[in-house]
Amino acid sequence: MNIALIAHDKKKDDLVRFVTAYQPIFEKHTLFATGTTGLRIQEATGLAIHRFQSGPLGGDQEIGALIAKNEMDLIIFFRDPLTAQPHEPDVSALIRLCDVYHIPLATNMGTAEVLIRGLEKGDIDWRSFLKGKRPKFEK
Ligand code: PGA
Repeated sequence: MNIALIAHDKKKDDLVRFVTAYQPIFEKHTLFATGTTGLRIQEATGLAIHRFQSGPLGGDQEIGALIAKNEMDLIIFFRDPLTAQPHEPDVSALIRLCDVYHIPLATNMGTAEVLIRGLEKGDIDWRSFLKGKRPKFEK
């Protein structure tokens, strides 16, 4: 699966800890991240991560573009609900696209843990319920 990892500054330590704890699972997947988050995780774990721009410079939108192209399977996005973000419109857009395309999104560690453990067991099967329901642009 293609998994995207994003954390706002005050949540980066949490995400690094989370990915480190579940590294054996993350190793089996293709990882993407916004710039600084990806660097922090790479340094801590040595995992191979495709890094986009930093979030405020367009990284969230790059990940959103992959969601729209059906190239992203799961998003872990530890957002900071207590600090205003200069790129709040990008954050909202990314979350919105997850809902448009039915992409699992964890915005906190509890949900992320449930998703990752589900992934490990291999019983996440939402796509089979959605056959033919992916929103399509009629040309
Ligand atoms: P960053 O971007 O990983 O480059 O810090 C994350 C964000 O703020 O959206």
